[in-house]
Amino acid sequence: MTIGFYPGSFDPFTVGHLEIVKKASDLFDKVYVGIGINPDKKRHFDTEEMKKAIEKSVKEYHLDNVEVIIYDNLTSDKVKELKADYIIRGIRNNIDYNSEETLAQINYELTNGIDTLYLRAGKYGYVSSSFVRNLMSFKKRSYDYLPIPVGELVRDGKYKL
Ligand code: ADP
Repeated sequence: MTIGFYPGSFDPFTVGHLEIVKKASDLFDKVYVGIGINPDKKRHFDTEEMKKAIEKSVKEYHLDNVEVIIYDNLTSDKVKELKADYIIRGIRNNIDYNSEETLAQINYELTNGIDTLYLRAGKYGYVSSSFVRNLMSFKKRSYDYLPIPVGELVRDGKYKL
């Protein structure tokens, strides 16, 4: 059984993240989407609420082999704990590539050889969580860039900017 681990902040989870999860779900027998808790990073959406919204989003597309988890340890430790074969990351452009490559090398080193599989962002390559939060801060429409259950969190004011 092949297992993929897709870690991220997902603050919020966007249509771009969902595209990566769909592709990963096709490629692996099992995919864990991991919302990483980083005490140094201010969160704008509650992790438990985002977890539920991601679960609903993947259910809508019948991605039955996807499980959403929250983790607060190192990605390299979590990937070993999950016995995953690959870490999955999305690449939008060369800026992503440069930072992802450093992270991938660190994780490869700390896990004794678990590699990172990059998936192309494709049509939503211009979408990012910070772009969505920026729209929200100006009270602009952000739903187009969010799966419906995540858009509902925005509609219900369940965030802190
Ligand atoms: P992190 O803080 O760990 O970078 P993010 O939630 O910002 O977490 O992103 C998680 C992963 O998803 C990263 O690999 C990022 O490059 C990728 N990603 C972000 N936005 C998109 C998008 N629009 N399309 C594809 N991949 C994306």
